Amino acid sequence: MPKIRVVYNREGCIGAAACELAAPKFWKLGKDNKADLAQAKLNPETLKYELEVEVTEEELKALKESADSCPVQVIEISEIS
Ligand code: SF4
Repeated sequence: MPKIRVVYNREGCIGAAACELAAPKFWKLGKDNKADLAQAKLNPETLKYELEVEVTEEELKALKESADSCPVQVIEISEIS
């Protein structure tokens, strides 16, 4: 299973919910109408949320789709192994 790293700039989220539609297992809109990334931790230096996780090929595809469909491009995904 690929291990990936997701970096999410929640500050820039405009609540379009495209990410939630593409990968609902990972993204959910919060009360403030910005998406929350499940189990991600805030990096106090960059103020971005980060998550390293092993995913199935299907989950990876869904996450890449969420990044591609985000209108403000605040989701970055990279494979780390
Ligand atoms: S698609 Fe982008 S802007 Fe829309 S809720 Fe997700 S992170 Fe926020």
